[in-house]
Amino acid sequence: MRAVVFYRHGGPEVLEYREDIPAPQPGPGEVLIAVRYAALNRLDDFVRTGWRGLDLAFPHILGADFSGTIAAVGAEVSGWSEGQRVVANPTLWCGRCPQCIAGWHNRCDSFAILGEHVPGAYAEFVRVPARNLVAIPDGYPDDLAAAAPLVCVTAWHMLITAGRVRAGEMVLVVGAGGGVNSAAIQIAKLAGATVLVIAANAEKASKARVLGVDVAIDRAIEPNWGKAIHAVTGRRGVDVVVDNVGAATWGSSLRCLAKGGRLLTVGGTTGYEAVTPVNLMFGKHLSIIGSTMGTQADFEAVMAQVWTGKIQPVVDQVFPLADYPTALARMVAGEGFGKILVQVA
Ligand code: ZN
Repeated sequence: MRAVVFYRHGGPEVLEYREDIPAPQPGPGEVLIAVRYAALNRLDDFVRTGWRGLDLAFPHILGADFSGTIAAVGAEVSGWSEGQRVVANPTLWCGRCPQCIAGWHNRCDSFAILGEHVPGAYAEFVRVPARNLVAIPDGYPDDLAAAAPLVCVTAWHMLITAGRVRAGEMVLVVGAGGGVNSAAIQIAKLAGATVLVIAANAEKASKARVLGVDVAIDRAIEPNWGKAIHAVTGRRGVDVVVDNVGAATWGSSLRCLAKGGRLLTVGGTTGYEAVTPVNLMFGKHLSIIGSTMGTQADFEAVMAQVWTGKIQPVVDQVFPLADYPTALARMVAGEGFGKILVQVA
């Protein structure tokens, strides 16, 4: 089959587009999907670079997000048949450990992510557990469907399940261009929150307003955006900050919180070593809540909102599968707004 693979960790130069990669076979409880579109995630870059303890079977295929049709159904699978259009929760779990039994699939002892620990979706075919699937309703476009899974399940778990955002709260999202943040903006609005965003420039600020943001602060004009947030909130601060930027913004994010506020994080693109002023934590009763990916309940809940159009996946650009390195360069440069896709079929 056609696939983008790599045989060793390294920079983008280790990526190879090949047409002679053996197609996977679905095992018990699994289905084989003929991929239509796959979506890029920051995770791709981290996995290809590698880290200590990451033990991949080479060649490895990246790609956590896809839309496609079921091409084959493995043993012990019921309720799914060939030809159905589907997406899948990229969170992988064992189903047997205490966390799984409690429903916390994303805290599984054997937690894994499609395309991170096992072969992913930058290929003609991908193999996934049938229990991860959600059917794409008739009429819903394949490209938008592929853009949703990882960022939507991650943002839903962070804001709704872990962060417990409620109607009437003020939620500040630091950064507007990334996929998780554009999902987070829409989910926070759906929950009834007032949403503020820090955008890198005027163009991203205006695109964030289209997603329903109430206040967009352009940090090209307001580099001291913490001060701007205090002014906008009448010195009160916000109830929730979503910060996936990490080291560069951590201190400012904490200072934007009102008493009892929560800082939510699912990533740290500028670095993981950040300073936390302890006096702020106890003096203002603050919480830091981290999470990663989401449970199947989160996935089904958020995809139901996607299908009705209440959450709209944002697609930046689409590239052919063979042009994955070009797509990757665009993502890493941070120039786009929303998800970058590769078209496989
Ligand atoms: Zn488990």
